Amino acid sequence: MKKVLSGMRPTGKLHLGHYLGVIKNWLQLQEKYDCKFFIADWHALTNKYKETDNLKENIRQMIIDWLSCGIDPQKVTLFIQSGVKEHAELALLFSMITPKSWLELNPSYKDLKFNLYYQYMRDFLAGKQIKIIQTPPPESFDEAFEKASGKQKSKIFEEYLRESFHRAFYNQKGIDFKWLREVLLKFGIQKKIVEEVIKNLEEGDVGKDIDTLGFLAYPVLQAADILIYKADAVPVGEDQLPHIELTREVARRFNNLYDEIFPEPEAILTEASRLPGIDGRKMSKSYNNAIYLSDNRETVDKKVLEMKTDPKRIRRNDPGNPEVCIVFRYHQIFTDQEKVKDIDTKCRKAEIGCVDCKKILAENLNKFLDPIRERRKEIEKDLPKYERVFQEGTEKARAIASETMLEVRKAMKLWEF
Ligand code: SF4
Repeated sequence: MKKVLSGMRPTGKLHLGHYLGVIKNWLQLQEKYDCKFFIADWHALTNKYKETDNLKENIRQMIIDWLSCGIDPQKVTLFIQSGVKEHAELALLFSMITPKSWLELNPSYKDLKFNLYYQYMRDFLAGKQIKIIQTPPPESFDEAFEKASGKQKSKIFEEYLRESFHRAFYNQKGIDFKWLREVLLKFGIQKKIVEEVIKNLEEGDVGKDIDTLGFLAYPVLQAADILIYKADAVPVGEDQLPHIELTREVARRFNNLYDEIFPEPEAILTEASRLPGIDGRKMSKSYNNAIYLSDNRETVDKKVLEMKTDPKRIRRNDPGNPEVCIVFRYHQIFTDQEKVKDIDTKCRKAEIGCVDCKKILAENLNKFLDPIRERRKEIEKDLPKYERVFQEGTEKARAIASETMLEVRKAMKLWEF
Protein backbone atom coordinates (compact mmCIF):
# COMPACT_ATOMS: atom_id res chain seq x y z
CA MET A 1 0.00 0.00 0.00
CA LYS A 2 1.23 3.47 -0.88
CA LYS A 3 2.82 5.32 2.07
CA VAL A 4 1.61 8.90 2.45
CA LEU A 5 2.97 11.56 4.79
CA SER A 6 1.55 14.97 5.60
CA GLY A 7 1.86 17.51 8.40
CA MET A 8 0.50 20.80 9.67
CA ARG A 9 2.11 23.53 11.72
CA PRO A 10 0.34 24.12 15.03
CA THR A 11 -0.30 27.83 14.69
CA GLY A 12 -3.76 27.99 16.28
CA LYS A 13 -7.33 26.79 15.93
CA LEU A 14 -8.28 25.42 12.52
CA HIS A 15 -10.78 27.26 10.35
CA LEU A 16 -12.96 26.31 7.41
CA GLY A 17 -10.15 27.14 4.99
CA HIS A 18 -7.93 24.54 6.69
CA TYR A 19 -10.75 22.03 6.56
CA LEU A 20 -11.33 22.45 2.83
CA GLY A 21 -7.66 22.81 1.93
CA VAL A 22 -6.20 19.97 4.03
CA ILE A 23 -8.48 17.98 6.32
CA LYS A 24 -11.08 17.10 3.67
CA ASN A 25 -8.32 15.63 1.56
CA TRP A 26 -6.84 13.72 4.51
CA LEU A 27 -10.23 12.16 5.21
CA GLN A 28 -10.17 10.66 1.72
CA LEU A 29 -6.50 9.64 1.87
CA GLN A 30 -6.92 7.79 5.18
CA GLU A 31 -9.40 5.45 3.47
CA LYS A 32 -7.00 4.48 0.68
CA TYR A 33 -3.41 4.64 1.87
CA ASP A 34 -1.03 3.94 4.72
CA CYS A 35 -1.04 7.50 6.06
CA LYS A 36 1.00 9.27 8.68
CA PHE A 37 -0.16 12.74 9.71
CA PHE A 38 1.99 14.77 12.05
CA ILE A 39 1.91 18.00 14.00
CA ALA A 40 4.91 19.91 12.70
CA ASP A 41 5.85 21.77 15.88
CA TRP A 42 9.52 22.26 14.91
CA HIS A 43 8.37 23.80 11.65
CA ALA A 44 6.24 26.26 13.63
CA LEU A 45 9.48 27.57 15.11
CA THR A 46 11.14 28.28 11.79
CA ASN A 47 9.45 31.66 11.48
CA LYS A 48 7.75 32.00 14.89
CA TYR A 49 10.58 31.12 17.20
CA LYS A 50 9.69 33.95 19.56
CA GLU A 51 6.10 32.79 19.99
CA THR A 52 6.37 29.64 22.05
CA ASP A 53 3.98 30.59 24.87
CA ASN A 54 0.99 29.05 23.10
CA LEU A 55 2.76 26.22 21.34
CA LYS A 56 1.59 23.43 23.67
CA GLU A 57 -1.95 24.75 23.69
CA ASN A 58 -1.92 24.99 19.89
CA ILE A 59 -0.83 21.35 19.71
CA ARG A 60 -3.72 20.40 21.99
CA GLN A 61 -6.17 22.36 19.84
CA MET A 62 -4.82 20.66 16.75
CA ILE A 63 -5.33 17.23 18.33
CA ILE A 64 -8.96 18.16 19.09
CA ASP A 65 -9.55 19.69 15.66
CA TRP A 66 -8.16 16.71 13.72
CA LEU A 67 -10.00 14.09 15.72
CA SER A 68 -13.29 15.96 15.80
CA CYS A 69 -13.17 16.25 12.00
CA GLY A 70 -12.96 12.47 11.74
CA ILE A 71 -9.25 11.82 11.31
CA ASP A 72 -9.19 8.26 12.57
CA PRO A 73 -6.26 6.91 14.62
CA GLN A 74 -7.44 3.37 13.82
CA LYS A 75 -6.64 4.05 10.17
CA VAL A 76 -3.66 6.41 10.32
CA THR A 77 -0.61 7.06 12.48
CA LEU A 78 -0.83 10.42 14.23
CA PHE A 79 2.24 11.90 15.86
CA ILE A 80 4.07 14.99 17.03
CA GLN A 81 7.24 15.80 15.12
CA SER A 82 9.42 16.82 18.09
CA GLY A 83 8.73 13.44 19.71
CA VAL A 84 10.71 11.74 16.95
CA LYS A 85 14.21 13.15 17.41
CA GLU A 86 15.43 11.11 14.44
CA HIS A 87 13.89 13.77 12.15
CA ALA A 88 16.49 16.22 13.49
CA GLU A 89 19.35 13.76 13.07
CA LEU A 90 18.44 13.02 9.47
CA ALA A 91 17.94 16.73 8.75
CA LEU A 92 21.43 17.39 10.08
CA LEU A 93 22.96 14.69 7.88
CA PHE A 94 21.01 15.93 4.87
CA SER A 95 22.23 19.47 5.54
CA MET A 96 25.78 18.19 4.95
CA ILE A 97 24.95 17.10 1.42
CA THR A 98 22.53 19.88 0.40
CA PRO A 99 24.12 22.74 -1.54
CA LYS A 100 23.22 26.12 -0.06
CA SER A 101 22.11 27.39 -3.45
CA TRP A 102 19.24 24.84 -3.56
CA LEU A 103 17.77 26.56 -0.53
CA GLU A 104 18.47 30.15 -1.54
CA LEU A 105 16.79 29.53 -4.87
CA ASN A 106 13.76 27.92 -3.29
CA PRO A 107 10.84 30.00 -4.60
CA SER A 108 8.76 29.83 -1.44
CA TYR A 109 11.68 31.21 0.60
CA LYS A 110 11.97 34.09 -1.82
CA ASP A 111 8.20 34.58 -1.99
CA LEU A 112 7.89 34.82 1.76
CA LYS A 113 10.69 37.36 1.95
CA PHE A 114 9.12 39.29 -0.88
CA ASN A 115 5.72 39.31 0.83
CA LEU A 116 7.13 40.51 4.14
CA TYR A 117 8.91 43.45 2.56
CA TYR A 118 5.99 44.23 0.35
CA GLN A 119 3.46 44.05 3.18
CA TYR A 120 5.61 46.44 5.17
CA MET A 121 5.65 48.87 2.26
CA ARG A 122 1.87 48.69 1.83
CA ASP A 123 1.19 49.26 5.52
CA PHE A 124 3.67 52.11 5.73
CA LEU A 125 2.17 53.95 2.77
CA ALA A 126 -1.38 53.22 3.92
CA GLY A 127 -0.44 54.79 7.29
CA LYS A 128 0.49 57.93 5.34
CA GLN A 129 -2.93 57.84 3.66
CA ILE A 130 -1.41 56.66 0.39
CA LYS A 131 -3.80 54.02 -0.87
CA ILE A 132 -2.57 51.04 -2.82
CA ILE A 133 -4.93 49.03 -4.98
CA GLN A 134 -4.27 45.33 -5.21
CA THR A 135 -4.21 43.95 -8.72
CA PRO A 136 -1.97 41.42 -10.41
CA PRO A 137 0.96 42.86 -12.36
CA PRO A 138 0.35 43.28 -16.10
CA GLU A 139 2.24 41.19 -18.64
CA SER A 140 4.18 44.05 -20.09
CA PHE A 141 4.73 46.33 -17.19
CA ASP A 142 6.98 48.96 -18.70
CA GLU A 143 4.53 49.57 -21.49
CA ALA A 144 1.61 49.95 -19.10
CA PHE A 145 3.60 52.31 -16.93
CA GLU A 146 4.72 54.49 -19.84
CA LYS A 147 1.14 54.89 -21.02
CA ALA A 148 -0.26 55.56 -17.56
CA SER A 149 -1.28 59.03 -16.58
CA GLY A 150 -3.37 60.73 -13.89
CA LYS A 151 -5.91 58.33 -12.42
CA GLN A 152 -4.41 55.37 -14.22
CA LYS A 153 -1.12 55.99 -12.45
CA SER A 154 -2.62 55.46 -9.07
CA LYS A 155 -4.34 52.33 -10.37
CA ILE A 156 -1.15 50.74 -11.48
CA PHE A 157 0.84 51.99 -8.55
CA GLU A 158 0.75 48.70 -6.71
CA GLU A 159 1.46 46.79 -9.88
CA TYR A 160 4.59 48.80 -10.39
CA LEU A 161 5.77 48.33 -6.86
CA ARG A 162 5.12 44.62 -6.92
CA GLU A 163 6.88 44.34 -10.22
CA SER A 164 9.91 46.26 -9.05
CA PHE A 165 10.12 44.11 -5.92
CA HIS A 166 9.70 40.98 -7.97
CA ARG A 167 12.35 41.93 -10.46
CA ALA A 168 14.80 42.70 -7.72
CA PHE A 169 14.15 39.41 -5.91
CA TYR A 170 14.12 37.23 -8.94
CA ASN A 171 17.26 38.79 -10.31
CA GLN A 172 19.06 37.69 -7.15
CA LYS A 173 20.21 41.19 -6.38
CA GLY A 174 18.21 41.88 -3.28
CA ILE A 175 15.88 44.85 -3.42
CA ASP A 176 16.93 47.47 -5.94
CA PHE A 177 16.46 50.45 -3.62
CA LYS A 178 17.62 52.96 -6.19
CA TRP A 179 14.92 51.87 -8.56
CA LEU A 180 12.29 51.74 -5.82
CA ARG A 181 13.16 55.31 -4.76
CA GLU A 182 12.68 56.50 -8.34
CA VAL A 183 9.33 54.71 -8.61
CA LEU A 184 7.97 56.30 -5.46
CA LEU A 185 9.15 59.77 -6.46
CA LYS A 186 7.68 59.32 -9.93
CA PHE A 187 4.29 58.80 -8.31
CA GLY A 188 4.62 62.14 -6.58
CA ILE A 189 5.12 60.76 -3.05
CA GLN A 190 6.90 63.30 -0.87
CA LYS A 191 10.66 62.89 -0.80
CA LYS A 192 10.63 62.80 3.03
CA ILE A 193 8.22 59.84 3.09
CA VAL A 194 10.17 58.05 0.35
CA GLU A 195 13.44 58.39 2.26
CA GLU A 196 11.80 57.18 5.46
CA VAL A 197 10.35 54.01 3.95
CA ILE A 198 13.53 53.19 2.03
CA LYS A 199 15.62 53.69 5.19
CA ASN A 200 13.32 51.41 7.18
CA LEU A 201 13.49 48.74 4.51
CA GLU A 202 17.25 48.99 4.19
CA GLU A 203 18.13 49.15 7.85
CA GLY A 204 15.04 48.04 9.77
CA ASP A 205 13.81 44.75 11.12
CA VAL A 206 11.64 43.73 8.18
CA GLY A 207 12.35 40.14 7.27
CA LYS A 208 14.89 39.71 10.08
CA ASP A 209 12.77 36.98 11.70
CA ILE A 210 13.25 34.74 8.72
CA ASP A 211 16.92 35.57 8.28
CA THR A 212 17.85 32.50 10.26
CA LEU A 213 19.54 29.25 9.44
CA GLY A 214 16.45 27.37 10.63
CA PHE A 215 14.18 29.15 8.21
CA LEU A 216 16.51 28.84 5.24
CA ALA A 217 17.00 25.15 5.94
CA TYR A 218 13.41 24.16 6.71
CA PRO A 219 13.00 22.39 3.35
CA VAL A 220 15.86 20.11 4.48
CA LEU A 221 13.94 19.32 7.66
CA GLN A 222 10.91 18.70 5.49
CA ALA A 223 12.93 16.31 3.30
CA ALA A 224 13.94 14.44 6.47
CA ASP A 225 10.29 14.33 7.67
CA ILE A 226 9.26 12.68 4.43
CA LEU A 227 12.21 10.42 3.68
CA ILE A 228 12.63 9.03 7.18
CA TYR A 229 9.36 7.13 6.62
CA LYS A 230 10.26 6.36 2.99
CA ALA A 231 6.97 7.95 1.97
CA ASP A 232 5.88 7.31 -1.60
CA ALA A 233 3.62 10.32 -1.82
CA VAL A 234 2.97 13.67 -0.17
CA PRO A 235 -0.22 15.70 -0.62
CA VAL A 236 0.74 19.31 -1.42
CA GLY A 237 -0.61 22.49 -2.92
CA GLU A 238 0.97 23.80 -6.09
CA ASP A 239 3.11 26.30 -4.15
CA GLN A 240 4.77 23.42 -2.27
CA LEU A 241 5.86 21.53 -5.39
CA PRO A 242 9.42 22.97 -5.29
CA HIS A 243 9.80 21.46 -1.80
CA ILE A 244 8.92 18.01 -3.05
CA GLU A 245 11.36 18.46 -5.90
CA LEU A 246 14.04 19.40 -3.38
CA THR A 247 13.19 16.31 -1.32
CA ARG A 248 13.60 14.17 -4.43
CA GLU A 249 16.94 15.82 -5.19
CA VAL A 250 18.18 15.22 -1.64
CA ALA A 251 17.09 11.56 -1.87
CA ARG A 252 18.87 11.19 -5.21
CA ARG A 253 22.02 12.77 -3.91
CA PHE A 254 22.07 10.60 -0.80
CA ASN A 255 21.42 7.44 -2.83
CA ASN A 256 24.23 8.32 -5.25
CA LEU A 257 26.72 9.19 -2.54
CA TYR A 258 26.10 6.30 -0.14
CA ASP A 259 23.49 3.66 -0.81
CA GLU A 260 20.04 3.27 -2.39
CA ILE A 261 17.96 3.84 0.72
CA PHE A 262 15.36 6.45 -0.12
CA PRO A 263 12.52 6.31 -2.65
CA GLU A 264 11.80 9.56 -4.52
CA PRO A 265 8.36 10.61 -3.29
CA GLU A 266 5.74 11.91 -5.69
CA ALA A 267 3.40 14.81 -5.05
CA ILE A 268 -0.35 14.30 -4.77
CA LEU A 269 -1.52 17.66 -5.98
CA THR A 270 -4.33 19.08 -3.86
CA GLU A 271 -6.42 22.07 -4.74
CA ALA A 272 -5.96 25.04 -2.43
CA SER A 273 -9.09 26.18 -0.64
CA ARG A 274 -10.60 29.13 -2.44
CA LEU A 275 -12.86 29.99 0.43
CA PRO A 276 -12.33 33.65 1.35
CA GLY A 277 -12.69 35.09 4.85
CA ILE A 278 -15.90 36.87 5.78
CA ASP A 279 -14.46 40.18 4.51
CA GLY A 280 -13.45 38.73 1.13
CA ARG A 281 -9.71 38.60 1.84
CA LYS A 282 -7.79 35.36 2.27
CA MET A 283 -9.13 33.52 5.32
CA SER A 284 -6.57 34.05 8.04
CA LYS A 285 -6.28 34.39 11.80
CA SER A 286 -4.27 37.58 11.35
CA TYR A 287 -7.09 39.25 9.39
CA ASN A 288 -9.65 38.26 12.02
CA ASN A 289 -11.97 37.07 9.24
CA ALA A 290 -12.07 33.32 9.77
CA ILE A 291 -14.86 30.93 10.71
CA TYR A 292 -13.35 28.36 13.05
CA LEU A 293 -14.31 24.72 13.32
CA SER A 294 -14.72 25.38 17.04
CA ASP A 295 -17.06 28.38 16.63
CA ASN A 296 -20.47 27.87 18.26
CA ARG A 297 -23.79 28.47 16.48
CA GLU A 298 -24.20 32.05 17.71
CA THR A 299 -20.70 33.00 16.57
CA VAL A 300 -21.28 31.50 13.13
CA ASP A 301 -24.63 33.32 12.81
CA LYS A 302 -22.95 36.59 13.75
CA LYS A 303 -20.01 36.11 11.38
CA VAL A 304 -22.30 35.23 8.46
CA LEU A 305 -24.36 38.36 9.12
CA GLU A 306 -21.14 40.40 8.87
CA MET A 307 -20.19 38.84 5.52
CA LYS A 308 -19.63 41.08 2.50
CA THR A 309 -22.29 40.84 -0.21
CA ASP A 310 -22.62 42.45 -3.64
CA PRO A 311 -21.49 46.02 -2.83
CA LYS A 312 -23.78 47.45 -5.51
CA ARG A 313 -26.88 45.91 -3.96
CA ILE A 314 -27.85 48.66 -1.56
CA ARG A 315 -31.65 48.35 -1.28
CA ARG A 316 -33.70 45.17 -0.90
CA ASN A 317 -35.25 45.63 -4.37
CA ASP A 318 -31.92 46.20 -6.17
CA PRO A 319 -31.07 43.11 -8.28
CA GLY A 320 -27.84 41.50 -7.04
CA ASN A 321 -24.88 39.83 -8.68
CA PRO A 322 -23.98 36.55 -6.91
CA GLU A 323 -20.70 36.34 -8.80
CA VAL A 324 -19.22 39.15 -6.69
CA CYS A 325 -20.82 38.09 -3.41
CA ILE A 326 -18.86 36.35 -0.63
CA VAL A 327 -22.02 34.78 0.81
CA PHE A 328 -22.67 33.13 -2.54
CA ARG A 329 -19.12 31.71 -2.64
CA TYR A 330 -19.91 29.95 0.62
CA HIS A 331 -23.29 28.77 -0.69
CA GLN A 332 -21.50 27.10 -3.59
CA ILE A 333 -19.67 24.90 -1.08
CA PHE A 334 -22.10 24.43 1.78
CA THR A 335 -25.54 24.57 0.13
CA ASP A 336 -27.03 21.89 -2.12
CA GLN A 337 -26.75 22.63 -5.83
CA GLU A 338 -30.52 22.98 -6.48
CA LYS A 339 -30.78 25.63 -3.80
CA VAL A 340 -27.65 27.39 -5.10
CA LYS A 341 -29.32 27.71 -8.52
CA ASP A 342 -32.47 29.01 -6.88
CA ILE A 343 -30.53 31.65 -4.89
CA ASP A 344 -28.64 32.67 -8.02
CA THR A 345 -31.90 33.31 -9.91
CA LYS A 346 -33.71 34.99 -7.04
CA CYS A 347 -30.75 37.23 -6.20
CA ARG A 348 -30.54 38.49 -9.79
CA LYS A 349 -34.28 39.28 -9.75
CA ALA A 350 -34.21 40.77 -6.23
CA GLU A 351 -36.60 38.05 -5.08
CA ILE A 352 -34.51 37.24 -2.03
CA GLY A 353 -33.01 39.67 0.47
CA CYS A 354 -29.42 39.40 1.66
CA VAL A 355 -30.43 38.85 5.29
CA ASP A 356 -32.60 35.85 4.35
CA CYS A 357 -29.90 34.56 2.07
CA LYS A 358 -27.40 34.78 4.93
CA LYS A 359 -29.77 32.98 7.29
CA ILE A 360 -29.90 30.03 4.89
CA LEU A 361 -26.12 29.97 4.72
CA ALA A 362 -25.67 30.22 8.50
CA GLU A 363 -28.04 27.27 8.93
CA ASN A 364 -26.13 25.18 6.40
CA LEU A 365 -22.78 26.03 7.95
CA ASN A 366 -24.10 25.10 11.36
CA LYS A 367 -25.46 21.81 10.01
CA PHE A 368 -22.02 21.09 8.60
CA LEU A 369 -20.27 22.01 11.87
CA ASP A 370 -22.70 20.30 14.27
CA PRO A 371 -21.21 16.78 14.07
CA ILE A 372 -17.71 18.27 14.46
CA ARG A 373 -18.92 20.18 17.54
CA GLU A 374 -20.46 17.02 18.98
CA ARG A 375 -17.22 15.07 18.63
CA ARG A 376 -15.27 18.03 20.03
CA LYS A 377 -17.40 17.94 23.19
CA GLU A 378 -16.70 14.24 23.63
CA ILE A 379 -12.96 14.70 23.14
CA GLU A 380 -12.75 17.65 25.52
CA LYS A 381 -14.35 15.55 28.26
CA ASP A 382 -11.30 13.27 28.30
CA LEU A 383 -8.47 15.06 26.54
CA PRO A 384 -5.61 13.06 28.17
CA LYS A 385 -7.04 9.91 26.57
CA TYR A 386 -6.75 11.52 23.12
CA GLU A 387 -3.33 12.98 23.84
CA ARG A 388 -2.25 9.40 24.56
CA VAL A 389 -3.35 8.44 21.05
CA PHE A 390 -0.76 10.91 19.74
CA GLN A 391 1.78 9.63 22.24
CA GLU A 392 1.30 6.08 20.98
CA GLY A 393 1.41 7.25 17.39
CA THR A 394 4.66 9.07 18.12
CA GLU A 395 6.19 5.88 19.52
CA LYS A 396 5.06 3.95 16.46
CA ALA A 397 6.57 6.57 14.16
CA ARG A 398 9.78 6.59 16.19
CA ALA A 399 10.20 2.84 15.74
CA ILE A 400 10.07 3.24 11.95
CA ALA A 401 12.33 6.31 12.00
CA SER A 402 14.91 4.45 14.12
CA GLU A 403 15.03 1.62 11.60
CA THR A 404 15.71 4.08 8.79
CA MET A 405 18.42 5.81 10.81
CA LEU A 406 20.21 2.48 11.35
CA GLU A 407 20.30 2.05 7.58
CA VAL A 408 21.45 5.65 7.10
CA ARG A 409 24.30 5.41 9.62
CA LYS A 410 25.41 2.15 8.09
CA ALA A 411 25.31 3.54 4.55
CA MET A 412 27.29 6.61 5.63
CA LYS A 413 29.74 4.42 7.54
CA LEU A 414 29.13 6.39 10.73
CA TRP A 415 29.79 5.04 14.17
CA GLU A 416 26.93 2.69 15.00
CA PHE A 417 25.60 3.08 18.53
S1 SF4 B 1 -29.02 37.73 -2.07
FE1 SF4 B 1 -27.43 36.37 -1.38
S2 SF4 B 1 -26.16 36.03 -3.16
FE2 SF4 B 1 -27.39 37.84 -3.57
S3 SF4 B 1 -26.09 39.58 -2.96
FE3 SF4 B 1 -27.42 39.06 -1.23
S4 SF4 B 1 -26.22 37.66 -0.02
FE4 SF4 B 1 -25.28 37.74 -2.03
